[in-house]
Amino acid sequence: MIMKVLNFGDLDSIPTHACEAHRSGDWIVFRCAECPDYERRINWRTGEVKVRNSSEVLHSGTYLPYQLERVSCN
Ligand SMILES: [Zn+2]
Repeated sequence: MIMKVLNFGDLDSIPTHACEAHRSGDWIVFRCAECPDYERRINWRTGEVKVRNSSEVLHSGTYLPYQLERVSCN
């Protein structure tokens, strides 16, 4: 198991939407409660990123793979 913290977004910037993260197989899936169509996926094996319905709103999220029961968003 690769222990790597995945995050994106500028944490010091203007207001962002905090995303909730959960793991789906090799993918970490970030979803926004305020943007139902938005989804960002990060493959924790390859680092590949897929974004669906990206908007101009900044989104940020953090996923800590070694704390599967506790997800923090920034
Ligand atoms: Zn959003």
